Order: sequence, then C-alpha cells, then structure tokens
Amino acid sequence: MLHIGCHLSSSAGFAAMGRQAQALGADTFQFFTRNPRGSRAKPLDTADAAALAELLARQGFAPIIAHAPYTLNLCGTEEKNRLFARETMADDLARMEHIPGQYYNFHPGSHVEQGTEAGVALIAEGLNAILRPEQTTTVLLETMAGKGSEVGSRFEELREILDRVELPDKLGVCLDTCHVSDAGYDIIGDLDGVLAEFDRIIGLHRLRAIHLNDSLNPRGARKDRHARIGEGCIGLEALARIVNHPALTRLPFCLETPNELPGYAAEIALLRSLTD
Ligand code: FE
Ligand code: FE
Ligand code: ZN
Repeated sequence: MLHIGCHLSSSAGFAAMGRQAQALGADTFQFFTRNPRGSRAKPLDTADAAALAELLARQGFAPIIAHAPYTLNLCGTEEKNRLFARETMADDLARMEHIPGQYYNFHPGSHVEQGTEAGVALIAEGLNAILRPEQTTTVLLETMAGKGSEVGSRFEELREILDRVELPDKLGVCLDTCHVSDAGYDIIGDLDGVLAEFDRIIGLHRLRAIHLNDSLNPRGARKDRHARIGEGCIGLEALARIVNHPALTRLPFCLETPNELPGYAAEIALLRSLTD
C-alpha cells in the first residue's frame, strides 16, 4: 500500500496534525519544527507529543518527517551562523526523541563563495557535532535543486557528506522529485537510470523518503519552484511511475505542492488511485 501524506502546519499541535493527516487520507506527513524564518520553538508539550506517537503506532503510519527551518546553514560563511544551525538542529533532535523513530529532514546548506568541497566538509563537521549514538531519529539529507550555491544537487555531494560522518547509520536521504529534476536528473525519461545512479553512488538503502512534487520548470532549470501534481514539467505519468516503482513503494511519499488542505486530499486520493 502506498504511504502518502503532505506538508501540514504544526500550529495546532502534534496530535492535531495526526488527526488532520487521517482526515486527508494520509498515513504520513511533514511539518516544520519551528517557523522557517524565526528561531524560537514553543516549549515542547510532552503529552501532545506522546499522543501523536500513540496515534502513529495505532494507525500504522509510515515514519513522519520533521523538516528543519530552511534558513539554517551548516556551511554558512560566518561561524556564528554555522553554530546557530547546529544548536537549532540539536534542539530539534532532542525534541524529536519524544516522538521516537521518525525522520528529521534538512537542506544540507549553501556554501556561498566557499566552494562545494568546503561546504561538504563543514556540513559533515556540523553533523558530527550533533548526531548521537542513542538517538532514534534518522536525519535525512534532502536532494537539492542546485539554486545558488546549494550543496546536495549531485548525488556525489551527498555521498561525500555521508563518507565524512562518524555515525552514518543515523543518516539517510530524502529525494525531492522537483529538486532532482531541476538539478538535471532525467526522472521523466529514465527513472531506472537515475535510481541506478543513486544506488551506485549513495546506495538505495539510504533512501528513506520522497518529496513528491511537480516542477514549474524543465529539467536542469535549478529553480526550485514546486507545482501541483500533473500541473508541471514532470507530469502525472512520470510521477505515477515514481509511486509505483518497485524500489520506492515501501517509502513514505510527502507532497509539498502549492495546495490548501482540500487540494492535498485530492492529490492523495489521485495518487492512491494510481497504485494498487
Ligand atoms: Fe525541503
Ligand atoms: Fe522538498
Ligand atoms: Zn523545494
């Protein structure tokens, strides 16, 4: 059975997101751990977190994805910004232990003018400072579109990060279909080839989640503008092949398409109707 959900607002709390996901026909979802632009997180409501953990187990949800604020940059040029990213991520990971065994997705970072090599080294250094042997959360590196100086638009860059991390078993990869297409990978015409390349460079066992988005722009555009399912340059046929691919069917798929809740419910129903 397809595991699918969408990005939800966390403003009503943890258990409320679980109930909202169920109402949308979802069995996974994603949320921002805190305001993407701000830094402050509300004090954690442990009873609410426990209620969500219980709901996820009882309803047989696939792992859910907590998304780090996208303004964090483990490889920024200024040390204070790099340390801020580390502290925020470490705090998020401590909170996530109240909902054990889920995913924490983050954008590897932007190297600004330092170069990809330096960026990769700083990202791995940051991860080595915050990953803990006892954590139950798997941290996911998101594949990026390659906008500006983003690190992680090539599978090789993600592999280099994994190679430098001391606790690689705490890490996985989240493949964003809009981002990989924007980065130049031909998921429309040669999905098998792209997945074979992922397997050769990173290893498919590291692939833990899919962000299922259409793209407003053609392959290689490096723009990162998401479109609704079937309304972009990737198209419904290619996205249906992705949710039905035998190497991917076990994974949680999460929509980050420009939608309100009824639009998400319709996309979830559509994609469920295209799988068996
Ligand atoms: Fe993201
Ligand atoms: Fe994404
Ligand atoms: Zn994106």
